[in-house]
Amino acid sequence: MKHKNIAIFVPHAGCPHRCAFCDQHTITGHPAPPAPDEVEAVCREAVASFSADERAAAEIAFFGGSFTALPRGYMTALLEAAAPYAAQCRGIRLSTRPDTVDTSVLETLRRYSVTAVELGAQSMDDAVLAANDRGHTAADVSRASALIRAAGMELGLQIMPGLYTADAASDRRTVEAVCAIGPDTVRIYPTVILKGTRLAALHASGAYVPRPFDEMVTETAAAMETFRARGIRVIKVGLHASDGVSAEAVGGYYHPAFRELCESRLYRARIEAVITADGTHPARTWTVRVHPRCISKAVGQKRANVRYFQDTYGIGIRICGDEAVPPFQVHVGGNACF
Ligand code: SF4
Repeated sequence: MKHKNIAIFVPHAGCPHRCAFCDQHTITGHPAPPAPDEVEAVCREAVASFSADERAAAEIAFFGGSFTALPRGYMTALLEAAAPYAAQCRGIRLSTRPDTVDTSVLETLRRYSVTAVELGAQSMDDAVLAANDRGHTAADVSRASALIRAAGMELGLQIMPGLYTADAASDRRTVEAVCAIGPDTVRIYPTVILKGTRLAALHASGAYVPRPFDEMVTETAAAMETFRARGIRVIKVGLHASDGVSAEAVGGYYHPAFRELCESRLYRARIEAVITADGTHPARTWTVRVHPRCISKAVGQKRANVRYFQDTYGIGIRICGDEAVPPFQVHVGGNACF
């Protein structure tokens, strides 16, 4: 059963200041945090539209602000509005800042069926965090993560490669530091420069020059591979595609199918590993079998992977669907496609 979130956006609610890259009004498409009766209405309507199986898999999700820094009365009013519906679903998940998590607020969240807390870590490099006006340190991420774990909740970490002053090595260290914490889930949001943010001003002045887009695709694909190898679920890659973000993005790494680009790059790397291991590339055309659901990823957008092997090695690849090949594996060789 596909997981569904009943998303409720609280744009910038609880945030002590504006981080250099952030505009939650654009990202969420919502102008203001909701009143409790609006939360109740959204949950009621969504739950009524779900089948029993869908309800069992669904979570009510408060995103877009610093939930644990909300004024306590407003926070509990939102949770109370959601509580009857959370009881019919898997529970409530929310995102927040690491420096606003303590045992007292976690105890409150637990009383209201919150089962998962996601922290905006963004980077585990203190210099990068400071340069982007985060107002917390990597140690805050580790400390808050330990508290969430101790409270028995699912832990999620969100990271943002490609921030101002971050280089590839720093972003790789962040991936390793996140793996060392060992969250249940991660979201990877390669940096998008949004109009009106301090990051946009740094970009316009020439102080912030993002690394090339293609490099970020390769680096993010490698990060996904690292997390997957450590048993950490990657539940989101790239900002949610929306008219608002595409209209307001002035640079950085926005693409409506960023995850697909990265998964395609993973397929390219797997095929390349087999082909280059051969050493001589004797075949003019290689047959590559992948799971049928993954054919488009293996081929790449606009046949990017097929063109890559033609241009780089002078060989053709023919991608075939084969139910026997697990997702994200490739079988290379042979002549026939089934
Ligand atoms: S990144 Fe998080 S803490 Fe910073 S302004 Fe945006 S929502 Fe608030």
